[in-house]
Amino acid sequence: MFIDAETLDNQTTFTSDIAVVGAGPAGIVLALELANAGYEVVLIESGGLHFSAAIQNLGEASHFDPQFHAPMSECTRRQLGGTSTIWGGRCLPYDPVDFDRRSYIPNSDWPIGYEEIAGYFQRACDYFLCGKSEFKIENIPNIAQKSIVPGLPDAEVLTSTLERWSLPTNFGKEYFNDLKQSEKIKLLYNLTCTEIETSEQNDQVELLAAKTLGGKTIRVKCQKYVLAGGALNTTRLLLASDRRHPGGIGNQSGLLGRFYMGHLSGDIAVVHFTTPPQDTVFGFDRDPDKIYLRRRFSFTREFLHEQQLPNIVAWLGSPKFGDPAHQNAILSSAYLALSTPVLKNFLTSTAMRKAAIGKEGQGIYWAHVMNVLKDFKQAITFVPRFGYGRYIAKRKIPALFVYSAANEYPLHYHSEQVPNPDSRISLSNDQDELGMRRLNIDIQFAQQDIDGVLKAHRYWDQYLRNHNCGYLKYVTDDPEASVWEQAGDGFHQVGTTRMSEHPKDGVVGNNCNVHGLDNLFVASSSIFVTSGQANSTFTIVAFALRLADHLKKIIEEKV
Ligand SMILES: Cc1cc2nc3c(=O)[nH]c(=O)nc-3n(C[C@H](O)[C@H](O)[C@H](O)COP(=O)(O)OP(=O)(O)OC[C@H]3O[C@@H](n4cnc5c(N)ncnc54)[C@H](O)[C@@H]3O)c2cc1C
Repeated sequence: MFIDAETLDNQTTFTSDIAVVGAGPAGIVLALELANAGYEVVLIESGGLHFSAAIQNLGEASHFDPQFHAPMSECTRRQLGGTSTIWGGRCLPYDPVDFDRRSYIPNSDWPIGYEEIAGYFQRACDYFLCGKSEFKIENIPNIAQKSIVPGLPDAEVLTSTLERWSLPTNFGKEYFNDLKQSEKIKLLYNLTCTEIETSEQNDQVELLAAKTLGGKTIRVKCQKYVLAGGALNTTRLLLASDRRHPGGIGNQSGLLGRFYMGHLSGDIAVVHFTTPPQDTVFGFDRDPDKIYLRRRFSFTREFLHEQQLPNIVAWLGSPKFGDPAHQNAILSSAYLALSTPVLKNFLTSTAMRKAAIGKEGQGIYWAHVMNVLKDFKQAITFVPRFGYGRYIAKRKIPALFVYSAANEYPLHYHSEQVPNPDSRISLSNDQDELGMRRLNIDIQFAQQDIDGVLKAHRYWDQYLRNHNCGYLKYVTDDPEASVWEQAGDGFHQVGTTRMSEHPKDGVVGNNCNVHGLDNLFVASSSIFVTSGQANSTFTIVAFALRLADHLKKIIEEKV
């Protein structure tokens, strides 16, 4: 059942078995899993069924450095489906190395191992609609060419590991009917949870207080409570619930809000292959289920340990569309489409547009027109085909890649950011329209992050040369400065309620339970101890499934 909270009487109280705060991928999966097991779920969503700028504004931070972090309005979405309404849809799990003890990366110790989560990958794939839980090219039967270019074997560097793409699956749209038709789920939308209230003894959550923009206050009382508001908003709610818990709920360690991480991504080099250009696998493969797959350059687990590298991958990219120097009619057509007022907002989100085009500006507009005119035939045949695949087909082409006759491709890196207690979020004194204190975001990158990216490029270059397949060409005179310049995130929010065995070392325990409270849980990448090379959402959903199983078990045991 869907209920617009603005239509409720002020001071209404809902009771249920389980409350879930946030209806993004994590909250929706949890709600469906628990409802299917027979439990009553109240799902509280700050946003509505569609986008509203006034509600989105509730999540805006008070302070952040735009050099290192995107505005919350670009990197989160407050509506049914959460940020999956604007995401890219790239799906891949964390790697075993992300859970390894790595003495060369301080504070990277998870209290649980990879095997605790690997069993949930296929169920996660099912929710994402991204096919089989298979992330190695050798196990994909219909793909004949297993190496990225002929003669390049898997060694300390691998080119056989894969990432998969979902539709991209908008969880609000895809699971709309399941949520609406469930007799067990009450979705309260346009309702923002503003405070977690605990018992006299402070060992139990007693209720959630929530508000609407129209001025209603609603209460939700349940046996168990799960926070699934996305990493930063989940932590914000814990920090803001500080009436009886100085520094916020779950902050015995003083670590609530700390170890905020994302990924380092960017380009400092191009790969020049010396193999036949037509044999280079760039862009996407498709598996027998037509799921889009992409290969990357990664490292073996052993090599990462030996060389003391953070986890990092890179893939063959396209030149940024915005720079007309590429002289490519297809890329210039894409640039012109993505720069056209009105059309640009329809085609993609602000964040994705910025990532694809790089530079945007009036001065270079005509240079793009000239590129298109020079190879008009190519542009005119490409646009309808790509347009259909990207915007009309149910399973969308994830991105635009173009063949390089010179056999040269930008190498786009995506790296782990090492855990750093000084990289953090905290509450400001600035309040949103509901009276909730807004966040100050202070994400900090470290020299170890930058060195990891530089070192990885040296090993990729060496590997290509050792196998006589090519080499890297740096596109900047100062790669180190360039990695620093490109360091910045906000789209993949990791950490701030880190998992730990003992309350003194973190915020949640091994079962995502907030330390010190026996009925409060977190379903979010905020619990992650490391950021890995992988985007977070696939692993978020795997953890949500694990938490759903845990909740079913402990509720059954009680009965
Ligand atoms: C442009 C872009 C591209 C991305 N691409 C990828 C990608 O390709 N692959 C990938 O893995 N990840 C990607 N991500 C990240 C991905 O979108 C997130 O990791 C994912 O959506 C997180 O899911 P979640 O359920 O934890 O949180 P969210 O999706 O953020 O959902 C949280 C929900 O909780 C609600 N909420 C928050 N606070 C409250 C409150 N106090 N009360 C009630 N409700 C609340 C919000 O309104 C929201 O609906 C991308 C993100 C962006 C912005």
